[in-house]
Amino acid sequence: MNPCPCGYYGDSRGRCRCTPDQVLRYRGRLSGPLLDRIDLQIEVPAVPAEVLQHAPDGEASAVVRARVAQARQRQLQRQGKANARLSTCEIDQYCQPEASAAALLKHAISRFELSARAFHRLLKVARTIADISASDAIEAQHVAEAVQYRRFAKD
Ligand SMILES: [Zn+2]
Repeated sequence: MNPCPCGYYGDSRGRCRCTPDQVLRYRGRLSGPLLDRIDLQIEVPAVPAEVLQHAPDGEASAVVRARVAQARQRQLQRQGKANARLSTCEIDQYCQPEASAAALLKHAISRFELSARAFHRLLKVARTIADISASDAIEAQHVAEAVQYRRFAKD
């Protein structure tokens, strides 16, 4: 979705003319329970054409693909299914964060008033980020990254 009715919210050249009230109302159209089910909410600012033209090439898709395939393999070996398909019971079993990560998660839940559903979904995303990093443990950095993906609509 666009960040505001005109689409220029946060634009570096200040082209957005929406009032804070209009932005709130616009974003409010996406209901809480629906938004709750979207695990990765990321703000993608517009990139000026001149920056885009001079940007270095990103990582090759084949390299990213191999990393994703390995992460998926880890999941299948550990639990016989992808993280996305874990039930609540299985999340308790396979997505236990380290102590520091658990503390961070607890803090995020209360700070951002996240639901029980969001809590479990966050754990699955953190587990996936750990898998992509080839880490058996869910560390604080993995939880921090997962939490960051849920911040968009909360600002
Ligand atoms: Zn706007």
